[in-house]
Amino acid sequence: MERTFIAIKPDGVQRGLIAEIISRFERKGFKLVGIKLVVPSKDFAQKHYHDLKERPFFDGLCDFLSSGPVLAMVWEGEGVIKYGRKLIGATDPQKSEPGTIRGDLAVVVGRNIIHGSDGLETAKDEISLWFQPEELV
Ligand code: ATP
Ligand code: MG
Repeated sequence: MERTFIAIKPDGVQRGLIAEIISRFERKGFKLVGIKLVVPSKDFAQKHYHDLKERPFFDGLCDFLSSGPVLAMVWEGEGVIKYGRKLIGATDPQKSEPGTIRGDLAVVVGRNIIHGSDGLETAKDEISLWFQPEELV
């Protein structure tokens, strides 16, 4: 069954949005198969966002991801990668539709509270970066 990596970034955890976000994935019908709270090192954040290393915001983005607890999760279900990103909304919360997580709960792109894998390959890579196989049920 398809799986995706979803992370509530430090701003989402700090703002107390964990239950709200988990609830949206649960109500849709997706299945939680892995979850843990971690403070990633900057080196780890750079690994996670390696595709963006040429972008001007890369350094600030990695500093931010490693600035506090991140809730790392793996969700499972038919179409969960694509639909998970639909639940999350557009990268820039100014362009996210109301009803999406970023549309309802965030304002600026640098504090958009949640990450979701963008494809089958990245989902596999991100799940294996953040989780050991025995941490998944
Ligand atoms: P994520 O990978 O976090 O789920 P995404 O796939 O919607 O987000 P990406 O293009 O992968 O968007 O960008 C990764 C993250 O980098 C964004 O979530 C955002 O926090 C940050 N980011 C993207 N564009 C900008 C920007 N122009 N300025 C500042 N930060 C940005
Ligand atoms: Mg992305």
